Amino acid sequence: MPVTPQRIVVTGGAGFLGSHLCELLLSQGHEVLCVDNFFTSSRRGVEHLLDYKRFELLRHDVTMPLNVEADEIYNLACPASPVHYQHDPVQTTKTSVIGAINMLELAKRLRAKVLQASTSEVYGDPIVHPQTESYWGNVNPIGPRSCYDEGKRCAETLFFDYYHQEKVRIKVVRIFNTYGPRMHPNDGRVVSNFIMQALRGDDITLFGDGEQTRSFCYVSDLIDGLHRMMKSPDSVVGPINLGNPEECTVRALAETIIGLTGSRSKLVRRPLPPDDPRQRQPDITKAREVLGWEPSVSMQLGLASTIAYFDTLLASGEVPELI
Ligand code: NAD
Ligand code: UDP
Repeated sequence: MPVTPQRIVVTGGAGFLGSHLCELLLSQGHEVLCVDNFFTSSRRGVEHLLDYKRFELLRHDVTMPLNVEADEIYNLACPASPVHYQHDPVQTTKTSVIGAINMLELAKRLRAKVLQASTSEVYGDPIVHPQTESYWGNVNPIGPRSCYDEGKRCAETLFFDYYHQEKVRIKVVRIFNTYGPRMHPNDGRVVSNFIMQALRGDDITLFGDGEQTRSFCYVSDLIDGLHRMMKSPDSVVGPINLGNPEECTVRALAETIIGLTGSRSKLVRRPLPPDDPRQRQPDITKAREVLGWEPSVSMQLGLASTIAYFDTLLASGEVPELI
């Protein structure tokens, strides 16, 4: 069925997830306005989209009000890796909280739908496992991860308050660890770190004993989930978990990456950062039932394409600095 073209704003659109989302929306014939202050990204992330007449790139910080026209708003602007969001924690909280208010105000004025990219970090170091949406979480309000966790929790609060009080058409998804091509190679996240270390033959840095778990979702699956959520009826507001329920230890991830790259890298132990969640696995029953969504890309396949991406990047000699 042909899709009616919409005017769609993607904040954080030049980043890892945002650039893939812009690509999908353009391929469907929509007009896309990518709004980004390039805090953890650059124009390069969306350079390949600049030739589309329906694509616009606006350098803008979401902590400032935005006045544009749109039918739908995807609010993805926020640094996502612990190294990035701890670099300027005050700005991280402002981005989540003030950024949410600004996008909700915009949606209210336009009667547009607005989707919030929330996170599994709202569950903190979870005691309930796997995590269901009804679990309220276990979050330290004053630790090094708090700017991100509490900022995202407050953004969720704002979304639901604007929904109840102002009748704004909201959508909230809680994204679990996602990986794939166009991740920042130096952002310190585990998948990018391990692949870069393996390809360079450097030691692979296991934080703690490596027995902590995460569940890794490939980017194309995740973007499909975001899109399905936006297209769902207005009565579907969330929060809904989006992630791959295939749980693995950080040590097993390292061993898989060593196997896939044929690297001679050795595993070395490094101290576990404070408040590092011990376990994380999404319960995606709701996403299956409400959105008809579940991930389809296996870890082996997803990692292979991510490794190929980083390999090409290394060969080009154009590995960007951290921030
Ligand atoms: P990313 O760092 O690659 O992208 C974030 C983008 O937001 C960047 O382009 C950055 O420049 C931009 N940005 C940051 N602050 C901004 C501001 N004040 N104004 C305008 N733009 C700003 O991260 P990502 O992995 O693409 O994450 C995108 C969103 O998804 C984030 O909101 C993140 O919290 C959420 N999320 C991601 C994951 C994941 O595993 N990738 C997991 C959970 C949640
Ligand atoms: N981690 C690791 N070595 C690294 C980077 C991360 O062992 O070089 C661990 C980290 O301590 C955490 C897990 O991998 O337990 C996932 O870390 P990441 O920063 O990717 O995401 P998050 O902790 O936000 O889920």
